[in-house]
Amino acid sequence: MELTTKGRYAVMAMADLAGHADEGAIALSVVAERQSLPLAYLEQLFVPLRRAGLVESARGRTGGYRLAKPAGEISIAVVMEAVEEDTRFTRCSHNDPRCSAATPCVTHWLWTALSESMGEFLSSVNLADVIAGGRYSSAPLFAAAARTMGKRTYLDYNATAPLRPEAKAAVMRALDVTGNPSSVHAEGRRARSVIESARESVARLIGAKPSEIVFTSSATEANNWIVSQPWATILTSGTEHDSVLAPVRAVSGDIIMLPLDAHGIVDLKEFAERVLPREFAGPSLLALQLANNETGIVQPIAEIAELARSRGLSVHTDAVQAVGRVAIDFATLGVDTLALSAHKLGGPKGVGALVIRDHIHLVPLLRGGGQERRRRAGTENVAAIAGFGAAAEAALRDLQGAAAIQALRDEVEAGVKRISPDAVIIGEGAARLGNTIALALPGKLAETLVIRLDLAGIAVSAGSACSSGKVGASHVLEAMGLSHEIAAGTIRISLGPTTTKEDIAAFLAAWTTIAGASALAA
Ligand code: PLP
Repeated sequence: MELTTKGRYAVMAMADLAGHADEGAIALSVVAERQSLPLAYLEQLFVPLRRAGLVESARGRTGGYRLAKPAGEISIAVVMEAVEEDTRFTRCSHNDPRCSAATPCVTHWLWTALSESMGEFLSSVNLADVIAGGRYSSAPLFAAAARTMGKRTYLDYNATAPLRPEAKAAVMRALDVTGNPSSVHAEGRRARSVIESARESVARLIGAKPSEIVFTSSATEANNWIVSQPWATILTSGTEHDSVLAPVRAVSGDIIMLPLDAHGIVDLKEFAERVLPREFAGPSLLALQLANNETGIVQPIAEIAELARSRGLSVHTDAVQAVGRVAIDFATLGVDTLALSAHKLGGPKGVGALVIRDHIHLVPLLRGGGQERRRRAGTENVAAIAGFGAAAEAALRDLQGAAAIQALRDEVEAGVKRISPDAVIIGEGAARLGNTIALALPGKLAETLVIRLDLAGIAVSAGSACSSGKVGASHVLEAMGLSHEIAAGTIRISLGPTTTKEDIAAFLAAWTTIAGASALAA
């Protein structure tokens, strides 16, 4: 089926009005020129569009048309209906003598379902979606206009990345897979193959073998699992995520906090000279994150792991924030286990993995069935795992775009310094993820900055926000030896593959109002 010109032209013209809503009424000749559409045809189309209450006209010298409602309230289906575009896939039941209501033809329900899905889709997309610079837009053509219509700027990728379309599609497909992956019949085997192909994709992203990947409910589970093994001693750092620190506090063995420098990076000399020579009373673990979630600061894991292993320590790294942002090769990193999480890569929330080197045996955290080669019991979350696999594939492809993300990050930092010379960028000069900025403005509480940015349409986090949304001083920044004022005043801005120059401009515009010299003086 092909849409006729009237449907396509009507949507193009309406999107043009939506994208230029701030210009007031627009002459059809202007729309015709901007969209390369024939003016006479547009004039005819705007008669039914006006009759349907979708546009209103203004007379006079500055006359023309404007949308009669916000763009977000005008679906594509409504525009097409107004110009009588037929969006049914086929009319076999009306025109074809072989198909009637009483005796539908063999394909009747197929075409009916297709028409219904198309109708649902066209009803679900509105003019704001088409111009928002997202997946229905040809370019950031109208992105600035979309923002003025209430588009949000999402700069909180380290909290969670937006679900990638590929991941969403994989989840939806897998939801229709009936079988239990442990069943031997065809349905079960189909579910099993969805999981195994996702396992291969996740393994490829981090340079591991598929057999080394154990799917879990989250990175929190993966971190808890490794920490809760019967270790005599756990060596870790004060800048770890709570999913490491909380279980560490609950264990009965010894705990050694690693010496950190001013950037929160393990002091290798101190580590080698003062920590490693100690006697460990039994199997012991060094648990250290690859990159910090609040500051993006990267630990020299390969060097630390080599030192630790020379003393017989097992090494675990929480790589949640690093995976998909920097290239990782589990085979050569020198760690025994690694935790990762799907939702930081644009996969669904509530699925992660513990990557376990083949020869290592862990006491299971969850006991029951023999899933995940007897390492983690419980029927697998097939749909979430499928989404994880698709996100991992896309993240591997997007690694090439890391430099572009870093360039946008640098633009934010330069802009912030220009607007607010007092601002402090945590970890500037240290090895950091290219997508993360931890930023403090002396005298301002992080909570206040986050709320004011939110009101301006920008989503960022307070570095110290915990899952309850409560904001206190950040334990990460305090462990780095920063003052309480900075630890309670730092916000985190984190970028991702869909961040645009317009997003950065929107952030800097809001920052100028909130933190610029005049705002501070006020
Ligand atoms: N580790 C780090 C460094 C994180 O940033 C997070 C999430 O914010 C986690 C672990 C926990 O991941 P999940 O949300 O999958 O439990």
